[in-house]
Amino acid sequence: MVPTTTVPMAAAQTQLSKAARTPALLELIALDNLPCGCVAAAYRAKPWDLAVVSIEAKGPHCPNLVHLQGRVLELGAVSDLIGEEEEE
Ligand SMILES: [Zn+2]
Repeated sequence: MVPTTTVPMAAAQTQLSKAARTPALLELIALDNLPCGCVAAAYRAKPWDLAVVSIEAKGPHCPNLVHLQGRVLELGAVSDLIGEEEEE
């Protein structure tokens, strides 16, 4: 009835193959609530296999001036982060 439905599907496949060439650089590994009320996020930067820990949200009562939203706190090896996860 609607033979044109194959056209958008083909277009979607084309978009997928394009997306595969430029993958998302950061993959979320974990979110963590800090004692100060901030939320930290751990990401994996795929091209370099590097772990990035950043402040995702600033706690309303957080006294730490270093904790700013979007602030990168740490760079390190992904295996370190994953190792911590498995210990829990
Ligand atoms: Zn904080």
